[in-house]
Amino acid sequence: MPSSISGDNPRYAALREASHRQSRIFDWGTDGKGQPLKVTELYGSNTFNDRVMKERLPKKVYARLHESIKRGEKLDKSIADEVAQAVKEWAVAAGATHFCHWFQPQTGLIAEKHDAFLDIDDEGQAVERFSGSQLIQSEPDASSFPSGGMRSTFEARGYTVWDPSSPIFIMEKPTGKTLCIPAVFISYYGQALDQKAPLLRSMESLSNAAVKVLKLFGNETVERVIPTVGVEQEYFLIDRAFYSLRPDLVSGGRTLVGSKPPKGQELEDHYFGALKQRVQAFMNEVEYELYKMGVPIKTRHNEVAPNQFEIAPIYETASVAADHNQLLMETLRSVSRLHNFAALLHEKPFAGINGSGKHNNWSIQDSDGNNLLSPGHTPAENLQFLVFLTAVLKAVHKRAALLRMSIASSGNDHRLGANEAPPAIISVFLGEQLSEILDNIEHGMPTKATEDRVLGLGISLLPTAARDNTDRNRTSPFAFTGNKFEFRAVASNASISMPLTVLHAAVAEALGEMHEAITNRVHDGTEFKQAVIEVVRQATSETKAVRYEGNGYATEWVDEAARRGLPNLSKTPEALAQMVTPEALAFFKNTGIFSEEEVHARYHVQLERYIKDCEIEIEALKGMVQTQIFPAAYEQQELLADSITKLVTLLKLNPEAEPAKAQVAQLHNCAQAITELQTCLDTLNNVVAGLEQTDELADKASALATKVLPAMADVRKVCDELEDVVADHFWPLPKYREMLFIS
Ligand code: ADP
Ligand code: MG
Repeated sequence: MPSSISGDNPRYAALREASHRQSRIFDWGTDGKGQPLKVTELYGSNTFNDRVMKERLPKKVYARLHESIKRGEKLDKSIADEVAQAVKEWAVAAGATHFCHWFQPQTGLIAEKHDAFLDIDDEGQAVERFSGSQLIQSEPDASSFPSGGMRSTFEARGYTVWDPSSPIFIMEKPTGKTLCIPAVFISYYGQALDQKAPLLRSMESLSNAAVKVLKLFGNETVERVIPTVGVEQEYFLIDRAFYSLRPDLVSGGRTLVGSKPPKGQELEDHYFGALKQRVQAFMNEVEYELYKMGVPIKTRHNEVAPNQFEIAPIYETASVAADHNQLLMETLRSVSRLHNFAALLHEKPFAGINGSGKHNNWSIQDSDGNNLLSPGHTPAENLQFLVFLTAVLKAVHKRAALLRMSIASSGNDHRLGANEAPPAIISVFLGEQLSEILDNIEHGMPTKATEDRVLGLGISLLPTAARDNTDRNRTSPFAFTGNKFEFRAVASNASISMPLTVLHAAVAEALGEMHEAITNRVHDGTEFKQAVIEVVRQATSETKAVRYEGNGYATEWVDEAARRGLPNLSKTPEALAQMVTPEALAFFKNTGIFSEEEVHARYHVQLERYIKDCEIEIEALKGMVQTQIFPAAYEQQELLADSITKLVTLLKLNPEAEPAKAQVAQLHNCAQAITELQTCLDTLNNVVAGLEQTDELADKASALATKVLPAMADVRKVCDELEDVVADHFWPLPKYREMLFIS
């Protein structure tokens, strides 16, 4: 008798474990007076925030630090020691034993190298020490971070430098507390090695361009313009017992085989449904941890797919939002373990079921707190709004290919265009109201009367109308939602820095062009308002192709977009190649984001990453087929063969005759499937072997996308057919119906 029947099929053990799982009890506990802890008491309690700074720093030092943070300027080195002293005292009092520069290398994850506060003084006594220079700069031995060859090992110096715009915080784990200093990671020559440095550069570039435009409109008080970002993060939760039994999830984050469950998301009964107790306890603890670090989580709910969820914060300055999204992903992963869940952040963990994205809600705000993408109350304000709005259109139109590049990853390729997520074609949805207004401006006669009408009526009516605009288009990768844009095609697993960096640079470029066009017209004697409306009109007509109000999931759109000349880069390798076109190199250089060398390095890192992702999946799939799926299929074959042998022997039958015939047919099918699986596996191996000669990374990546992935899909197809016929107790891999519905 196969051993699994007697109950030691690990999958059955996992099923028992998951079905009997008790929810981890978690509540926030009480404050000093025995009252339930309030969010206002918890929030930011582990951050070196403005209140703490004020309390702990000498008045003058506080004032200077506060100013440089507010203005986004470099810290005055002369106060570094005093700041460090205060930070150390605060952290040690809170129980921190170590400090680290907390940064974001190009792996998409967080890096931290811990140093103890411990030092030994001249008398051999232990003391706690933390200097200004340690606060400001550190030199991690970071030669194994991807740098695209920018730091060969003999010149492996990379530095992390404190980014004061993002609050210092204490990371609290059950195993200890660490002071984290948000930092950028740069090479000895100042080249960006991380995700954060380019983001900060892009924010500066955007601010400079936007401030110049605001000054045209007579704004005398504005000092800076900052992009604001609120990220809706989607993820899946499955029981950890199942996760551990899936080599594909453990090594690559997505299931490489798995037959469709009898019930998927057809009933749409999960969306906004009641939270299960275990899930709610998990979310509570995630929020608890994030609140302490000052991450302003606001919403949580069930998503469309079974066991899929969403969490979203209140929006913040883009660079802080980027840090906080990293903390959020990290916290989802670490807290999930405590609750015996695995948090899946991959873009497409399950085929045939909605994937996960990260909707980047994005706007720009001036230093007086005005949202520049919010329609104003007066015609003049609305004119200014239209400049910023059409600048975004220009940006997305001109740099669509680079925006696509910025969200490219092996994971996101499985989601984009999968009939649930925006296509790889980048277009903008504006909604009926704004579209009509822009159309009017475009076609309006260039006579004074028409313009007055547009300025006086059409546009000044805009505030209430556009703000209440609820006809959201969920199928658009880049949609205007009243007073912000929502970049919806961003990958769930990736840092938001690169998409934001490209967006900011592109908008900065567009604002620069518009500023110049307006100024030139005014210089030539055109009245200011007239000059602005002409430039807005021009921007409107030149960006028409990128505006699309229809269904982005429809196949017609693919043809329509091609007719309009919009890029449709469905695979990562071709999207990444956009980075290094002469035009893109010039764009990055002119906007101050990347030198040519930095772009090439990044291209290299990204290609390598793509190749590694694919190679890991290939190995995982081959291993599962060879060591788990074939053996299960053989057991099934043996079961049938045994049964037939006994049947024909006992009844002295010809196997071709009834009633043995039906079982023999099943045996044939099973054997056939095994043969077919072997054929598909051989094909996969051959295709992969064929790549060994390919040295050029770009060629390899593109062959993986176009040849290897389809060969993997063929292997999967047979595996899924087998899953449907092999006896349940032989099947070793947790099934979709189990992973998605039991929690
Ligand atoms: P939805 O209806 O799409 O859920 P919400 O108003 O709840 O829209 O916002 C979703 C996200 O957008 C939240 O993170 C929110 O903070 C963020 N958001 C709202 N206004 C802005 C803005 N001006 N800039 C950036 N993000 C914003
Ligand atoms: Mg939204």
